[in-house]
This record gives sequence, C-alpha cells and structure tokens, in this order.
Amino acid sequence: MKPENLNRWENLTKADYKNYLAFFKKLSAAPKSQSPDIETIHSEVFSDTDCLSCANCCKTSPALLTKEDIKRISKHLQISTKEFQKKYVLEDVNGELSLNNVPCQFLLQDNSCSIYEIRPEACRQFPHTHDKDYPRRVILNTKNIFVCPAALAIAEKWENVINNLILSKK
Ligand code: SF4
Ligand code: SF4
Repeated sequence: MKPENLNRWENLTKADYKNYLAFFKKLSAAPKSQSPDIETIHSEVFSDTDCLSCANCCKTSPALLTKEDIKRISKHLQISTKEFQKKYVLEDVNGELSLNNVPCQFLLQDNSCSIYEIRPEACRQFPHTHDKDYPRRVILNTKNIFVCPAALAIAEKWENVINNLILSKK
C-alpha cells in the first residue's frame, strides 16, 4: 500500500463516514452502464497492497463463519465440529456464527494466517470489492473503508471515475 493512502486511511473522520455514505448511496442509484470495471479497479489496488504489512481486518473484525467453514477447519485441526464451536465460535442472537476473538486466534506474529489455505469464506471475500454487487452495497462498503486501506483506495478510484463521468457530461 502506498504511504500516501495509508496516511489518509489512518486519519479518516466521522465526516468522511458521512461523505462516503453519501457517495455510495449515489453510486448505488447510478445506472449500471456508468459503472467502471469492478475487477479491474480491485486488481489494480490489490496488486499494490501488501496485506502482510497490514492484517487490520484480522486484528479488528471477527470473521463470519458458515457451517462449511466450521467443518473444513475442524477437520484440518483434527477436532470435532462441536469442540471447534466451543473453543472458537460465537453465535449471536440472530444465529449468525463468527470467530470469537479479535485479533483472530489464527493470526500469526508475522501477520500471516495459520489456516490460510482453508480460511473462512468471509476472509477470502473481504473487502468484497471484486463482487459484482459492490456498487449497490452502501453500508457495508462504507464500513469497510474504515477497516481496510485497500477498500478506501478502491472507493477513491470509483469516486474519480464517477466524478469524471459526471464532468464529461456537463
Ligand atoms: S484490511 Fe485490507 S489491506 Fe489490510 S490485510 Fe485486510 S484486506 Fe489487506
Ligand atoms: S482466519 Fe486467517 S484470514 Fe481469517 S481473520 Fe483469522 S487470521 Fe485473518
């Protein structure tokens, strides 16, 4: 990640939250034909991002878990799913399952993941910036820029593209 972006990310404020919320609302209402290529922007930013020097998602946000995640990781750890749930899983009032600790129990000192190959699907997908529904997810995108400097860089690129489109029509 370029230091220039990291500095902006570390200094995000409540006002930025409101501004990005407004931007993502505008983006979600824009015609799909005006959208830049989702995968291109995501790849450009992540090719310039060193997640091992960050790991903020693993340090601050408990990963959601599916039943499949639990089966796969329990098998890898050679414990029963029941034992895994008891040791590592939190269930909220809506029945949503997540890892029960931050920083994550599977995060190593060097910021790598000790279960990387079989990590939860939510970890693979975060920050969801390559998802085809990215332009429509207002709250999640806004929250994620506060967790992830790459998500901020991606939002900034989207803002530039959308603003240029608007300017070119004037
Ligand atoms: S917060 Fe974003 S940039 Fe940092 S490790 Fe997670 S995905 Fe990578
Ligand atoms: S399972 Fe791995 S990738 Fe997911 S939060 Fe924990 S350390 Fe990070």
